[in-house]
Amino acid sequence: MSECNNNCASCGENCDARTAPQSFLKEHHPDAVVRRVYGVVSGKGGVGKSMVTSQLAVLLHRHGYAVGILDADVTGPSIPQAFGIHEQAVGTEHALLPCMSEGGVQVMSINVLLSDETDPVIWRGPVIGGVVQQFWTDVIWDVDFLLVDMPPGTGDVALNVFQQIPLDGIIIVTSPQELVSMVVEKAVKMAERMEVPIVGLVENMSYVACPDCGKKIYLFGEGKTEEAAKRHDLPVLAQMPIDPALAKLVDEGRIENLQSDALEGVVDVLVSR
Ligand code: ADP
Repeated sequence: MSECNNNCASCGENCDARTAPQSFLKEHHPDAVVRRVYGVVSGKGGVGKSMVTSQLAVLLHRHGYAVGILDADVTGPSIPQAFGIHEQAVGTEHALLPCMSEGGVQVMSINVLLSDETDPVIWRGPVIGGVVQQFWTDVIWDVDFLLVDMPPGTGDVALNVFQQIPLDGIIIVTSPQELVSMVVEKAVKMAERMEVPIVGLVENMSYVACPDCGKKIYLFGEGKTEEAAKRHDLPVLAQMPIDPALAKLVDEGRIENLQSDALEGVVDVLVSR
């Protein structure tokens, strides 16, 4: 055997000094109870990742589950707004308590820690990674389902979150105007590399329903997400229309008054896993 150069990537597989791949996964707070963790990812910002996360939380909560949202989208945090949460989180020296929405969804986000929620977050990746890690390690969650609104994209910041939080699966949100095929491919590769199962895809902004006759108008073309999903043997869990009523609910902080059941199929899948 050649002399050990401490580089396990280049040495023989039978080397005695070989070390196991290092895990960066962190434990949650010792007083926290978290039964299942799902990440919601997207190829870029603005496709409705937070919208999907919020709706899933509302629907799961209606099914009787304790639900939390860890808002890891630190530079574009929109979860507190959707749930009408504007107060600051309280904490002790050793832990933070999540904020509670009116309906009872637990939320932790950078926006409930900033003294002014309109302050921009202009930190670099490693600092953001540290904050998200603390949302996992320092918050006393008490949930059946923790949904992680992941940083957009498949770059460093998202990868950090994958490495730190033990995800039971991810849901990929796409919109048909994105380069769906490439986005899905990147997300699939990232999930495979991190050994996280993909629950399936949600296509947002799929169509507009005509207010008069209900006919679905596919503004950006039809079938792109299905095609990409088929290529990777993944299910399309739901298609969600562009609906001004949804945007209004978010803007008014009333997502818990949601009427749509477009994501019920996703909830069924999450609950039955
Ligand atoms: P992301 O988390 O991917 O950055 P958001 O969920 O914040 O995206 O959505 C971006 C904007 O689009 C928000 O104002 C949101 O309310 C709106 N939006 C998202 N999905 C829909 C939809 N299906 N219908 C109408 N508005 C939507």
